[in-house]
Amino acid sequence: MKIICHGGAGHTPKVQDGVDKAAEEGWKILKKTNNALLAATAATIVMEDDFRFNAGTGSCLRDDGRVQNDAAVATSDGKMGAITNLQDFKNPVLVARELLDEFVTMLAGEGAIQFALEKGFKKTKVIGSEKGWTGDTVGAVAQSSDGQIAVASSTGGVRGRPVGRVGDTPLWGSGFYCDKNIGILATGVGEAITEQLMCYRVYQYSEDLEEAMNWGVKLLPKDVGVGIIGIHSNGQIYGSSNTTMPFTIIKD
Ligand code: ASP
Repeated sequence: MKIICHGGAGHTPKVQDGVDKAAEEGWKILKKTNNALLAATAATIVMEDDFRFNAGTGSCLRDDGRVQNDAAVATSDGKMGAITNLQDFKNPVLVARELLDEFVTMLAGEGAIQFALEKGFKKTKVIGSEKGWTGDTVGAVAQSSDGQIAVASSTGGVRGRPVGRVGDTPLWGSGFYCDKNIGILATGVGEAITEQLMCYRVYQYSEDLEEAMNWGVKLLPKDVGVGIIGIHSNGQIYGSSNTTMPFTIIKD
């Protein structure tokens, strides 16, 4: 069993306690259920509910002063779900998780809102917070004792970006990827991560996670913040960043 959580590329180490708390919650769920999906989402929810992180309640603001959220979830048995430009839901990662069992894999804007309401989620005013220039997405990757892997990621995007902007977080292969060999998430400047198809290319680069992730973060200029975390079926668990990125690992 393993779990790794991050609190966002570029975020201050001062929030390390919040990432630790998320990992501990995910670990508790993993021990109790041996379900990687439940563990990864539980950890992500802890950070969505912590105002210091750019996800859920603490999301940064778009250029019109509103919050729009992106979130994604995927599992090693081939399922994925992502939502983008969701407004006024406290835990976007739970809405994305509902898509895992649907034919449709990704919903945006009004469609995502309708879907959330149909699934019984209640609209809540998400006020968000003024933050620095970058994003600080949150996320978690977990693996159960039988080798199932799940990833969960959630973000308010990057402060000041236009309404309707889609970052890397909900984009398959860029901000997240999961199959029977790997669960991997990215954080940082979404446009640059998307241009590099970061997660999938890191996965393809090498089976050595440390080598692959250190290569991946170097694809971007040093002043463009990026971070990657992941778990490989070969037993490796690793996080790498070209900036500060609070992250926590718990394993057997
Ligand atoms: N990747 C996120 C986005 O661009 C932000 C971040 O992780 O800092 O939406």
